[in-house]
Amino acid sequence: MECKEIIGLLEKIAPPCYASGWDNCGLLVGRDNKDIKKIMVALDCTDNVINQAIKNGVDMLITHHPLIFSPIKSVNYNDFVGRRIYKLAVNDISYYAAHTNMDAGVMADEAAKMLDMVNTKPLEITYEKKMYKVVVFVPEQYAQKLCEAMVREGASPFMGSINQISSARDIRIESSVSQENLDKVIRTIVKNHPYEDVDYDVYEISNSPLTKGIGKVGYLDYEMKLSELARLVKDRFELDYVLLTGDEDMSVVRAAISPGAGKSMIKHAVKAGVNVLITGDIDHHSALDAYEQGLSIIDAGHFGTEHFVVDYIRDYLYNATRDKRNDIFSDANGIEIIKAVEKAPFKVL
Ligand SMILES: [Zn+2]
Repeated sequence: MECKEIIGLLEKIAPPCYASGWDNCGLLVGRDNKDIKKIMVALDCTDNVINQAIKNGVDMLITHHPLIFSPIKSVNYNDFVGRRIYKLAVNDISYYAAHTNMDAGVMADEAAKMLDMVNTKPLEITYEKKMYKVVVFVPEQYAQKLCEAMVREGASPFMGSINQISSARDIRIESSVSQENLDKVIRTIVKNHPYEDVDYDVYEISNSPLTKGIGKVGYLDYEMKLSELARLVKDRFELDYVLLTGDEDMSVVRAAISPGAGKSMIKHAVKAGVNVLITGDIDHHSALDAYEQGLSIIDAGHFGTEHFVVDYIRDYLYNATRDKRNDIFSDANGIEIIKAVEKAPFKVL
């Protein structure tokens, strides 16, 4: 499979439009037409990970945290970022990063699921898309063709009831359509409809815009003590320890979770009215300030709260590439997907 096809699969779960403006996601090194037989997935693009990728003969490396953030003026061995880019390039490894788009597309949802949280919504909305319902009646014999044309424009139509007012049998086609596809879908309806004056209706689905963002806020499975929640986090994320502020005996039923560095999420958790935020990378002053605002912190570490996404991406790509092979490339060789060996940078002594 070509690198760009793998990227296409990744961007189904983590579309680039979900990424924050300051971020730097995408194919950062290498070529997208490379034939990919072996992929490595990691959290960070460190020298250690790149060396593992080279040793394992990997064609493509996918990491969560992007190697390149600020503009680069030279690529040479004297600089640690330049050295990594050089190593990836000379070994013809296509390097792709999925960061805040993965946070919004996968990370927040999956982290909340790991704690059995329900009724969740984004803690900080970074992407919002209005949805519309489009309804059109079309004579029966044109319905199939019109539906197919609408699908090509990103709609998901279904045929409903038959409306026999006159001698013509009209079928009701109904579809939810995103804001970005609305104009295209309407143009397609007009173009493919047999009548000159096409009667269609468009309704905004006001109660369900598609929202994505960083972190999640929602309800725990049942009311529990803060200490019990801390142990649940430790358990589910398979950690040696977590840090905790606040009253261990406090009872909690709603919580916020934001994998990774969560300092900037404190204000969103306070605003959401929860009394606990599960996150990582919280410093002394932020912890004190959060507590003053009635927010306890369970700091489960940056690596600790995010590393599960490596397994998620590996499993997802394994299934997605296998499905694709079965559909199209039934005799193609399998793509091998491996995980880099990584550890949190800190040790506890
Ligand atoms: Zn992170």
